[in-house]
Amino acid sequence: MSTSQLDQEATALESKKTFEVFNPATAQKIADVPMVDADEVKIAVARGREAFESWRDLPISKRAGYLKALRDVILDSKNEIIETIVSETGKAKLEALSNEILYVCTCIDYYVKNAESFLRDRYYSVGLVLLKTKRIHTSYIPRGVVGIIGPWNFPFTLTLGEAVPALMAGNAVVLKPSEFAPLSALLAVKLCERARFPKHLFQVVTGYGTTAEALIDYADQISFTGSVSTGKKVMARAARSLKPVTLELGGKDPMIVLQDANLERAANGAVWGALANSGQICMSIERVYVEEGVADVFIDRVVDKVKRLRQGIDQDYDVDVGSMTTPRQVEIVEDQIADAVAKGARILVGGKRNARLPGLFFEPTVMVNVDHSMKIMTEETFGPVIPIMRIKDEQEGVRLANDSRFGLVASVWTRDKRKGQALARRLESGSVCVNDCLVNFLTTEVPFGGVKESGWGARHGETGIQKYCFLQSVLEDRIGLRREINWFPYSKKFSSLLSRLLRILYHSRILQKLRP
Ligand code: NAD
Repeated sequence: MSTSQLDQEATALESKKTFEVFNPATAQKIADVPMVDADEVKIAVARGREAFESWRDLPISKRAGYLKALRDVILDSKNEIIETIVSETGKAKLEALSNEILYVCTCIDYYVKNAESFLRDRYYSVGLVLLKTKRIHTSYIPRGVVGIIGPWNFPFTLTLGEAVPALMAGNAVVLKPSEFAPLSALLAVKLCERARFPKHLFQVVTGYGTTAEALIDYADQISFTGSVSTGKKVMARAARSLKPVTLELGGKDPMIVLQDANLERAANGAVWGALANSGQICMSIERVYVEEGVADVFIDRVVDKVKRLRQGIDQDYDVDVGSMTTPRQVEIVEDQIADAVAKGARILVGGKRNARLPGLFFEPTVMVNVDHSMKIMTEETFGPVIPIMRIKDEQEGVRLANDSRFGLVASVWTRDKRKGQALARRLESGSVCVNDCLVNFLTTEVPFGGVKESGWGARHGETGIQKYCFLQSVLEDRIGLRREINWFPYSKKFSSLLSRLLRILYHSRILQKLRP
């Protein structure tokens, strides 16, 4: 599509149809947002491809300059970003500051500093003696327009944050945020404009699943963060054109508390790790296994700490637990609790919606007498619930932790650091924390991604930017002979030479010994 055609269609993205966005904490409508259709997604991708053509040719240091400018704009716009995130998710303000703004700035900083080395050309020496006259290297080549599809639980981190490595690698980005929380992504477009990004380098298409499906059809690569069930649909759709796709999906993250753990730290960790963001984090602690000998003390401490949490609409950083974000998610939590109670579980605190508050507030909940016949221990809850199960020893803890179709993050709590590390290796989980939780997402230096049904591919680290490129290998002839010995016409002479060479290379005792 030419530039003039694109300009003619410039108004197309101001869609006629809209959908409503609500503040889940107040239940008030806060915005009408365009419902972008498939044709408009196609236009956005075409515009992105035009922006890509010049962006790809910029030296990495120049791209880094734009990203640094964006980081400065983010810092200057901190309050506006926090207000937007909180308004569409209902989360506590501190969580918007620490898990979203701090994260995106850290991510920018990391890739600004390291992109050059992660994406450098790598030269190799040729092994085959006949080809010693060639020079070979590999290059990371950006793919074009990366389509990012995001969830609602971290509407800044998992949208703009995911775009950072894609942009640094030389791609343009078209982003489809969640229909429940699209405002932070729309604000991100404004932030990029303030940072004077090239036009259409970073675009947002708002809408439901059909908008995302069109993005899968038209973009060159897809990075998806969301639920397992949608992830499977994304992979199936991308398979139609064999489009590269990475999937960051759900979790059912186990916490194993051993007898020798620092119980005070473990109890504080359980409460924060399970209830931050109202439990709506892919790596939330969703099931706790505690060794019998310390179970009573541990449970008492957890219950005591949960009772002291402050829940509400955050005005001035004075709330610990905010609201949940979607009505459907509250229903899932209610259904799982009802299922557990029907099968014999006991609620020690919480267990119901918070009737004192207007929006989607669910009381922080602790449950015991739970087991793996219950959904609360096997399916992703994504809500403020801590189900605690007693185990007889660490072997049982590892067995139960691995008894899951998920494998995103797990944690082990013990004073014996060697034991902690040894148990970590036995856990079927993309990431493991020893005596810690959640913060591993902020360590951008190492890959973060799930195994089993928790995903495919990873963000962060070297692979987190290299995945936005294809790896091209280049062979160059250094000599420039009229013809190579193995080209046409074929001859008996060359075949006997090759046979002799093979004998020398692979039968000669001396060469055999020299070979590594
Ligand atoms: P979701 O799967 O319902 O939606 C995610 C996105 O997919 C949304 O933008 C949605 O509009 C889009 N979508 C809907 N139907 C689609 C289709 N047919 N094809 C393509 N896209 C479609 O997930 P959610 O409820 O927004 O987010 C919560 C889930 O995300 C949880 O399972 C959570 O564990 C997971 N998550 C994972 C990570 C991670 O890094 N592994 C991080 C955050 C959240």
